[in-house]
Amino acid sequence: MPRSLLYCLLLFLFLLPASGLSAAVTIDGDTEFLSLGKYIDYVEDRDGSMTLAAVRAKSAASWTDSATNTPSFGYTNSAYWLRFELDKTDPGEMRFLLEIAYPVLDSIEVFVLREGELTEHYRLGDSQPFSSRVIDHPNFLVPIPIGTNTELQVYLRVQSSSSVQIPVNLWRADRLVEHNYAAATGNALFYGAMLIMAIYNLLIFITVRDISYFYYVMYVLSMALLMAGIQGLSFQFLWPEAVGWNDVSMVVALSGMVFFPCFFTRSFLAIPRTRPLLSKCLFGLGLLAVATMVSGFFLPYRTAMVATMLLSIVTILANYTSGILRWLDGYHAARYYNFAWTFMLTGGLILAFNKLGMIPRNWFTEHAAQLGAGTEIMLLSFALANRMTHDRRLREQAQKESADAQQQLLANQIRANQDLDRIVRQRTEELERSNAKLQEMSSTDGLTGLQNRRFFDELLQNEYRRAYRDKTPIALVMIDLDHFKSFNDTHGHQFGDLCLIKVGKMIKDNIRRPPDTAARYGGEEFVILLPNTDTAGALCVARNMLDILAATTISDGTICQQVTASIGIASHIPDDCTTPHGLLKEADINLYAAKANGRNRVEWQSPATPDLADTAP
Ligand code: GH3
Ligand code: MG
Ligand code: MG
Repeated sequence: MPRSLLYCLLLFLFLLPASGLSAAVTIDGDTEFLSLGKYIDYVEDRDGSMTLAAVRAKSAASWTDSATNTPSFGYTNSAYWLRFELDKTDPGEMRFLLEIAYPVLDSIEVFVLREGELTEHYRLGDSQPFSSRVIDHPNFLVPIPIGTNTELQVYLRVQSSSSVQIPVNLWRADRLVEHNYAAATGNALFYGAMLIMAIYNLLIFITVRDISYFYYVMYVLSMALLMAGIQGLSFQFLWPEAVGWNDVSMVVALSGMVFFPCFFTRSFLAIPRTRPLLSKCLFGLGLLAVATMVSGFFLPYRTAMVATMLLSIVTILANYTSGILRWLDGYHAARYYNFAWTFMLTGGLILAFNKLGMIPRNWFTEHAAQLGAGTEIMLLSFALANRMTHDRRLREQAQKESADAQQQLLANQIRANQDLDRIVRQRTEELERSNAKLQEMSSTDGLTGLQNRRFFDELLQNEYRRAYRDKTPIALVMIDLDHFKSFNDTHGHQFGDLCLIKVGKMIKDNIRRPPDTAARYGGEEFVILLPNTDTAGALCVARNMLDILAATTISDGTICQQVTASIGIASHIPDDCTTPHGLLKEADINLYAAKANGRNRVEWQSPATPDLADTAP
């Protein structure tokens, strides 16, 4: 590239001294389009004071051959006078149109001289309202009818606060119609695409509330506005009378193309939380863009525009650098972002090389910036959608992981609860078993397995109350083994225990009715509570016991012994004058009587009960 640059420079230097007057343009029946740059001579009018007459009076040596397709003079205060000659050899009248294809030029005057006489004079430029144009077209057009064998001289006076580039073309009228149709279709496609992208992403912004979309939309609109400004379309269609605003709008649009990408880049690439310094730089550039935007209203157009252009170059570099840095950070969304900006840069560079004459001027190189911008816009939109999908996937993954963890936690909790339940159930069952055992132990006599005295006392109270309510009799049989002390003394305490066990079992086995309850009342004394039983019934039970006892032998294998018992019985139909204690006492008295009367017998007599005659066992 440096070598080709050098060649270009040498070629340029070589051509410089070759100034001299250009040849006249020859037109014939086949001429459809001519780029007139190479046929143009120009002269600089430093203070803009020269008149047509003064210019015409200038010597041939004062004129310079432009030698390029597009005479360009950069930013300058001077006015430039251009001239060329048209020679038509063919007979017949032909309609041609002269085009100055740079719509931002402020002031253009066209002078047409036929046979040395001024015949037409037009004032053009965007400092005039659009309605003053001879032909409604974004570029400046004037009709040049050319008759038979005519020699025409055309003078142009151009002055502009924008960069002074003067692409002058000559079109055959019908050819321009065709060209316009193609250009308008291309423009419709480009601006239509821009508008759809803007509206579509605006709707996404409204829906998802991601500020990146808003910046993107504003960037697209700024770009479309700038392009439309450069092509003269915004002046033609949006504000044809607002001459002052037309200039300012260019500064505003270009400032927007600095401001919005900076903020878009910051938010899209998540720069504030990852690269604070870079974030500040982009923020600063954004603020400067606000300054240039405001300056567009107050400073001269050229000053504001040059400042904004310099800022936009820095911004493009800053954005591109941001993309690369974030890409190096491994940020997923930076890939498509860089891809998009590469298109924008490439388009811009191709246009710049084209303007510098380093690559041939053709449709592609002319529209490279527009193509690059369009592609960038589409790729950025894709990058936005892609980032949204990627973020959603990350979110879904995180949600899934969290759901899995929750599921796991829940499963663990359920398992822990189940374990706890099982343990509690086990413990409860154990406790219940122990309680039942304790209950049994506390109500059972350890030696004989009969109910103990405590239990019996409680039972007596309850059954006595029930009998009181039902007005039914309740009986008590009190059994005391005879001479048990001497039994113990004779056969030993252990054999005495065996005897108590046997007697207890005998009593238990021989009480038949379910509510009858036997208990060991103490030592060798047993009681039987007989609900719903009168004295006769109790007597029956007592005698039965004595009979069975008489038939029972107590043996431990070596000793064989019999035992007798004395029994006292009592029975009440409880009323307000009787008590359970009274019943016990009565039975005890009768037992005492049985002992006194010779033992091995039943006694039941009490003051309240009649004599039942036979008391013998
Ligand atoms: P009585 O005919 O007048 O009832 O005379 P007894 O010897 O049976 O009466 P006493 O009240 O004088 O003696 C009761 C004896 O019962 C005293 C004790 O040696 C014996 N005894 C009390 N409880 C137990 C026991 O759990 N096991 C044994 N082997 N003997 C007991
Ligand atoms: Mg006793
Ligand atoms: Mg006794």
